[in-house]
Amino acid sequence: MIDEIEVTKAITEKYFEKFLSGIRCDVAIVGGGPSGLVAASILGKKGFNVTLFEKKLSLGGGIWGGGMMFNKVVVQKEATQILDEFNISYEDCGNGYFVADAIELSGGLIYNASRNARIFNLTNVEDVMVKDGRMTGLVVNWAAVEMAKLHIDPLTISSRAVIDATGHDAAICTIASRKTGKFNLAGEKYMNAELGERGVIERASEVFPGLYVTGMSVAAVYGLPRMGPIFGGMLLSGKRVAEIVEKNLK
Ligand SMILES: Cc1cc2nc3c(=O)[nH]c(=O)nc-3n(C[C@H](O)[C@H](O)[C@H](O)COP(=O)(O)OP(=O)(O)OC[C@H]3O[C@@H](n4cnc5c(N)ncnc54)[C@H](O)[C@@H]3O)c2cc1C
Repeated sequence: MIDEIEVTKAITEKYFEKFLSGIRCDVAIVGGGPSGLVAASILGKKGFNVTLFEKKLSLGGGIWGGGMMFNKVVVQKEATQILDEFNISYEDCGNGYFVADAIELSGGLIYNASRNARIFNLTNVEDVMVKDGRMTGLVVNWAAVEMAKLHIDPLTISSRAVIDATGHDAAICTIASRKTGKFNLAGEKYMNAELGERGVIERASEVFPGLYVTGMSVAAVYGLPRMGPIFGGMLLSGKRVAEIVEKNLK
């Protein structure tokens, strides 16, 4: 016999247990694309209390479609260490290029992140909290509230570090820039894969006290070239920002 009410009770009890355990966390990551998922896995494995918010139903960001909807993903040699670590398979295509399947890559990154961090999908981060010149947390609401333009107040989450992994939008840096006036976004530039890939790794950083940036958001903040359908830089940028956050929080 299945008791429908017991099913409802199990869902709501466990959901709110998860929600409450995440409202004061070490690291809050916004965006469940490749850079955010890698950062969440690494920091969670290091023992930090990590919460990741994704506004869409499914995580993975821009991985699923590969390049122009051909669902194969190219990475360079340096990034294969992350694929190995996350148990994701790939083929050597010669000349230093390696190819993973976009579906396996998305699934593998999501699986690893969900084992090491608390993930809330369908949750939009609409604002930031700043106290004494430092980012102290996020303001969140259901993505459906934003879509339907409902007049409903959000809730707040506190964290010692916030990572903007929202891709091309650099959504959190955009809000912080406008509301604090302490830094500006240079805006993403033309395509130059070599410079773009290197830049998103090297410039992954703390842009405002308590606010870190990774992935394509780095290009938007620092005015770096875009790089087209090569994803190694995204994975390595997530790893790089995790190392910086770990060092600063310790
Ligand atoms: C127009 C276009 C151009 C592209 N150009 C390039 C390119 O030049 N180089 C390249 O490598 N790839 C490009 N891509 C592919 C792809 O976007 C990226 O490579 C890669 O997915 C970026 O990874 P990321 O981790 O930075 O963010 P993404 O994969 O973009 O993931 C960001 C995630 O953040 C979520 N998010 C955004 N705002 C919020 C919010 N407020 N609250 C909660 N969640 C939020 C989004 O829903 C998304 O899932 C392009 C994609 C598009 C659509």
